[in-house]
Amino acid sequence: MRAAVLYGVEDVRIEEVPKPECPRDGLLLKVVACGICGTDARTYFNGDERAKPPWILGHEVAGVVAEIGPEARQETDVREGDRVHVISTLACGRCEYCRMGLENLCVERGLLGYWPHPGGYAEYMPIARVALRNVMKLPDDLPFEHATLIDPFSDALNGVERLQVELGDTVVVIGAGPIGTLQAQVARARGAFQVILVEINEQRLARSRSILGEDRMVYLSSGAGDTVEAVLSLTGGKGAERIIVACSSGQAQEDALRMAKKRARIVYFGGLPKGKPTIQFASNYLHYGEIEVTGAYASNYKQQYQALAMIHSGVIEAAKYITHILPLAEIAQGFEHIRRGESLKVVIKP
Ligand SMILES: [Zn+2]
Ligand SMILES: [Zn+2]
Repeated sequence: MRAAVLYGVEDVRIEEVPKPECPRDGLLLKVVACGICGTDARTYFNGDERAKPPWILGHEVAGVVAEIGPEARQETDVREGDRVHVISTLACGRCEYCRMGLENLCVERGLLGYWPHPGGYAEYMPIARVALRNVMKLPDDLPFEHATLIDPFSDALNGVERLQVELGDTVVVIGAGPIGTLQAQVARARGAFQVILVEINEQRLARSRSILGEDRMVYLSSGAGDTVEAVLSLTGGKGAERIIVACSSGQAQEDALRMAKKRARIVYFGGLPKGKPTIQFASNYLHYGEIEVTGAYASNYKQQYQALAMIHSGVIEAAKYITHILPLAEIAQGFEHIRRGESLKVVIKP
């Protein structure tokens, strides 16, 4: 089969590789579409110890069930020929967190597309037993390309849920990638009076604006001046009630503290780069302002079904978020589009 094989930093090659065997206790997926996640892009440009070359990335995957292992038939309700999406965050189903419905916090958490689970930038992808419960059947009329958004958008929903937006809040979203743009949309739907979307790349900001429009939105270019000052002036000097950092930037995490209103709630959504995992945390803002800072990681099954419903119903206009659909051979260009901020969501069709 054809696959995009990662050989090192910024070195991906399209090759013929052996078609994977269907796991006896899992299934084999014929990949139709696979999105590029920010995590994939970070791996492509910086490397990742869970993706030692040669490696096949890709975990925002949708396709058709090609084969079901004999020991998996009892474990799943999908059958050969079903159109499916597979959620990438793996959970054991047995630990305390899994039993509480917090699968995203599973003690044995894993991620499809990373060791030991080869990913979806290939014609076929083996789905291991641990991922069987992550296989969701898709409505017949939902395009595969749109279905690839279920995985990242369910994570985005978790972030907004952790933010606990209340009616009338001013919400700041830092980072206008696909996640931040969606979070701005959902925060507004949850009753925010004003949503301030902050982004350093002007092109990205303009694209988000074309999706979200002007209703209760403010678009702030962080390259154009002091973002903290701008947020303070938009909030009568008080700061914002809710702030979500939807980018991988320590500076943005530090800024969030300084633009927060007293009793504000801040969610750090994006992880920091492995080489620079710490920030200067001005903890007196918490002390004097009773500010809460929390995090958000991945999503639970409920949020995944919510994301599916929102995409299928058109509440989230998937087609507007997907700016590039590329053949496997152009995957390197796909990563470049993301790096340069020219794209919102890039989907690969193997
Ligand atoms: Zn991802
Ligand atoms: Zn677990």
